[in-house]
Amino acid sequence: MQRGEFLYEGKAKRIYATEDPGIFWMEFKDDATAGNGAKRGTIGDKGRINAEITTRVYEYLAASGVKTHFVRAESPTVLIVKKLSMFPLEVVVRNIAAGSLVKRFGLPEGKEMADPIVELYLKNDELGDPLLNDDHIVALGLATTTEIAALKAAARRVNELLRPYFLKLGILLVDFKLEFGRENGEIVLGDEVTPDTCRFWDAKTREKLDKDRFRQDLGGVEEAYQEVLRRVEQSDA
Ligand code: ADP
Ligand code: UDP
Repeated sequence: MQRGEFLYEGKAKRIYATEDPGIFWMEFKDDATAGNGAKRGTIGDKGRINAEITTRVYEYLAASGVKTHFVRAESPTVLIVKKLSMFPLEVVVRNIAAGSLVKRFGLPEGKEMADPIVELYLKNDELGDPLLNDDHIVALGLATTTEIAALKAAARRVNELLRPYFLKLGILLVDFKLEFGRENGEIVLGDEVTPDTCRFWDAKTREKLDKDRFRQDLGGVEEAYQEVLRRVEQSDA
């Protein structure tokens, strides 16, 4: 497969067309940002690590019946994916209180939720990715009521699959962000699942193994990403 026209550069990836109009070339970068782009840097080898983690996780999800955009890995930093018409939404699932849930509601970090919380945010850096309710989403024409229900159900299903998957690797899946798109009327999981988009804590020590190490200047960022990859590579799922 050939890399075609450059289409889009985001904070973590570059998207190119290919000779197949239904297929994108998705290149993972080492660039890292936090606070909707306010803090910038690079994380050594992140592109390769995140492409590899996404490959393994999406292969597992697909084998478990989840529809994903993943087709195959083309090189260590490039995934071939199905082109989706993306919802401009970030679908966040939370199992344990952290990040903005702690800030917004004053919950203690680390408090386990009785049931997972699903939240939808507008994907718009200039507006600071505001939290949306269902009425906002319909009023803004971002998704229909039926699609909102399907997005939430899909996100819960991914959580039900990924929580035990990571727990077996000694990792608590604290929270994570998914992005979905439409393909022939179906809702399909796009984007990535990586330490950039998930909070991962070591199950024994509760050490952070994700982008919070970069966000909070904790050091050992690349080592944490490598550790997640090392464990994912050992998965027998
Ligand atoms: P951001 O736009 O958040 O800075 P990235 O650097 O990760 O993000 O860029 C990836 C972009 O590609 C995002 O806008 C994401 O919504 C989009 N995307 C992810 N998967 C697909 C797909 N299968 N088809 C079309 N667009 C996709
Ligand atoms: N997240 C993400 N991209 C975003 C915002 C959040 O991948 O633009 C992920 C983040 O890594 C965490 C989860 O979504 O795993 C919940 O993030 P939170 O709302 O706590 O946001 P924060 O303020 O910490 O970015």
